[in-house]
Amino acid sequence: MRKDTECIHAGYTPENGGPRMIPIIESTTFKYDSSSDMADLFDLKAPGYFYSRLQNPTCDMVAAKLAALEGGTAGMLTSSGQAANFFSVFNLANAGDHVVSASTIYGGTFNLFQVTMKKMGIDFTFVEPDCTDDELEAAFRPNTKAVFGETIANPALKVLDIERFANAAHAHGVPFIIDNTFATPINCRPIEWGADIVTHSTTKYIDGHDSSVGGAIIDGGNFDWMAHKDKFPGLTTPDDSYHGTVYAEAFGNGGAFITKATAQLMRDFGSSPSAFSAYIINLGIESLSVRMKRHCENGLAIAEYLEKHPKVKWVTYPGLKSSPDYELTQKYMPNGTCGVVAFGLDGGRAKAEEVMGHLKVAMIATHVADAHTCVLHPASSTHRQLTDDELVACGVRPEMIRYSAGIEDVNDLIEDLAQALDQV
Ligand SMILES: *Cc1c(COP(=O)(O)O)cnc(C)c1O
Repeated sequence: MRKDTECIHAGYTPENGGPRMIPIIESTTFKYDSSSDMADLFDLKAPGYFYSRLQNPTCDMVAAKLAALEGGTAGMLTSSGQAANFFSVFNLANAGDHVVSASTIYGGTFNLFQVTMKKMGIDFTFVEPDCTDDELEAAFRPNTKAVFGETIANPALKVLDIERFANAAHAHGVPFIIDNTFATPINCRPIEWGADIVTHSTTKYIDGHDSSVGGAIIDGGNFDWMAHKDKFPGLTTPDDSYHGTVYAEAFGNGGAFITKATAQLMRDFGSSPSAFSAYIINLGIESLSVRMKRHCENGLAIAEYLEKHPKVKWVTYPGLKSSPDYELTQKYMPNGTCGVVAFGLDGGRAKAEEVMGHLKVAMIATHVADAHTCVLHPASSTHRQLTDDELVACGVRPEMIRYSAGIEDVNDLIEDLAQALDQV
């Protein structure tokens, strides 16, 4: 099936007389006739459900739909994008290990890596997406277990050269994990370009309606764990907490990663979404391909309008012909990127806040990438604790306004911007 059809049909096929829509199975537990039936589930000998902290049928149907859209072999939902990124790395790296990450990543992920996971004994080296081959090479260590990046960085809007980062990871025998939140599988399928694990904050375009916080992890199924047996003992040696299961042997390259993340990390951390949240996410996915087209049309029109406006000093949008990333965009996202545009005026923080205060359609919200157009001033909100110099270092200029074009009529959005810019 093509992507637009998969958005509607993948992950769930109704039985004769069954519900047309994915059913919400809002149940903590599942009943069995005998204790030995249940024991087989606990030993991972038989597939099935026993407790929704680990797995739930509604969540799995939606995860299967996302796995199909990304072209992966297995998937899982998590309670947030943060949980998805944490699990994707912690499923591979232990205390004493190291990970290479692009420096332009979401602020919450940067904090997770640099502060919280550092406390757990995992070290990160951050590299500029445009670094030289030598700089990228120099970031690897013998204990490196993964490479991480974002397809389109939030909020820097930097496009990653996916093939280049995937090749570097594979040359060092480690997988490449990519957060595909802004592009969505509609605009980019990183697995086709060599990425091994794809993560999402489904909170953004996938839900798309400001409704439900969530995340997802999808495995491309191409990484050969047994070929790098010594690097990934968690996947290639017996798991004592599951009666000696060797994930890579029992579930193969297509299933080992997600089974281990479910069996160990979901069991122990419990970052599980509710069946109801999964249902909401599925509703979002059904219209994802239609909405992404409109988000991209609106984003490009806004970026082109702002670029010509005399009061606007700079605009960042990867789909603009003038963007330094235009070539990468044409390679990886020829049909569109996202609806998020960053721009700045002369006059620093104060001027940015003034413009935003005059907007009437675009609402000020700590959110991005959904049907309602919204704006955020990172320097006075998500990145408030940073000095102006620190802001510039992580790709966020003090005067930056992050404008997330929704799916409204673009003429209303442009008129709204015009009147706000007129007043400053
Ligand atoms: C929002 C976001 C996250 C975090 O997701 P939550 O659902 O808010 O936990 C991770 N990565 C990117 C690119 C994001 O935009």
